Amino acid sequence: MSSVRKVIISGAGIAGLAAALALRQRGVSVTVLEQASQLREVGAGLQIAPNGSRVLQALGLGEAVEAVACEAAAKEVRLWNTGRRWPLFDLGADARARFGAPYWMLHRGDLHQVLRTAFEAAAPGALHTGVCVARAETLGDAVRVTAADGRVFAADVMVAADGVHSAQRRSVFGEGAARFTGLMAWRGVVPTARLSPALCEPVGVNWVGPGGHVITYPLRRGELLNVVAIVEKPEWRSESWSDAGTHDDVHRDLAGWHADIHGLIDAMDVPYRWALLSRPPLAGWLDGRTVLIGDAAHPTLPFLAQGANMALEDALLLARCLCELGDAPAALARFVALRLPRTTRIVQGAADNTHRFHNPLLSDPATAATYIDREWEPTRVRQRYDWLFEHDVTRLPLDPTA
Ligand SMILES: Cc1cc2nc3c(=O)[nH]c(=O)nc-3n(C[C@H](O)[C@H](O)[C@H](O)COP(=O)(O)OP(=O)(O)OC[C@H]3O[C@@H](n4cnc5c(N)ncnc54)[C@H](O)[C@@H]3O)c2cc1C
Repeated sequence: MSSVRKVIISGAGIAGLAAALALRQRGVSVTVLEQASQLREVGAGLQIAPNGSRVLQALGLGEAVEAVACEAAAKEVRLWNTGRRWPLFDLGADARARFGAPYWMLHRGDLHQVLRTAFEAAAPGALHTGVCVARAETLGDAVRVTAADGRVFAADVMVAADGVHSAQRRSVFGEGAARFTGLMAWRGVVPTARLSPALCEPVGVNWVGPGGHVITYPLRRGELLNVVAIVEKPEWRSESWSDAGTHDDVHRDLAGWHADIHGLIDAMDVPYRWALLSRPPLAGWLDGRTVLIGDAAHPTLPFLAQGANMALEDALLLARCLCELGDAPAALARFVALRLPRTTRIVQGAADNTHRFHNPLLSDPATAATYIDREWEPTRVRQRYDWLFEHDVTRLPLDPTA
């Protein structure tokens, strides 16, 4: 029997809400504390690969997510200046056949809404907005959580799902060695009604170029196209999700890129920008009965599109550990031991992709073709991605000897 009856979660993002729902579905009493006073539609696209969609299906959210997702048919690589295309991998029915689960492309706001609606139906009144968690202390068999407004909450376990700027991570592990990468991301959403049919085919595209890359993929049943452009911009240091720029800024940063890219920039609603910081993986995520999950535990560069997938994996596996292993401290230790090697490998793999996507050989179409043929050769692509998509936290044995 589980010794965990009550859990407090700080942060109602993707990790926090998914963990809250998974725990509630297992009979645990959950309180979620979210600093934002209103949960609005912020953010843009997220890619949910089979390792993440399996979790959403296990939470009973398959149909609700499918209603707002886009299941692209394939991904391809395109060269920044000529626009030449190379296949990357097939998705759609091929992903379902190979991995037993879909590859969904979603607006973050849509996924967030599905998780929130499901949790609020399962635990009415358990999500508190406008409550900023200030600290958590383990006192014997309990954890005491204090909010910035002085309110105090108690539980058996506290889950810090408070995102990339996690206060909990800072207070336990210090500021860490966040390193500015010299890269900045532009992101925008384009209503596909504004685009020519050629620009809104149901495929995800990785445009690669010297010193930059652009990712595009369809969202919300194909009604929107997500556009993220990564450029070298050492002077931009803000890591916020809501710093707006102008269309002219984006055109300037992508001067010389293919006309399709400039057409997409023109059609964007508001271009937002954020600086990309890289953080070395932590050696542990535990402080007494408080555990970090999601971006709080393993902030990553977005170059493997695994941030939200890792958050979903964490959420379900944590709920399984707490409810199937009984003793809370042992369950938390087991959770961290199961997750750390995989998330560390993902964080490092995402950092490695920076060099792959921005290689100087891409500047000349002749050297670029040989380089792309080699780097995106099908066997190498499978080696880089299959281990990510095959992982199944819904069935992973929790017992180290199993
Ligand atoms: C506003 C926003 C927009 C985003 N947009 C994109 C995007 O366009 N594309 C993309 O790939 N990823 C985006 N992300 C990141 C993506 O959601 C995460 O990488 C991933 O889903 C992991 O989720 P998470 O739950 O760990 O963190 P997050 O989704 O970042 O959620 C963390 C939550 O914790 C809350 N919080 C923080 N501190 C406290 C505190 N002290 N007390 C209580 N609550 C706290 C935050 O308000 C937030 O709701 C965005 C995140 C945010 C917050």
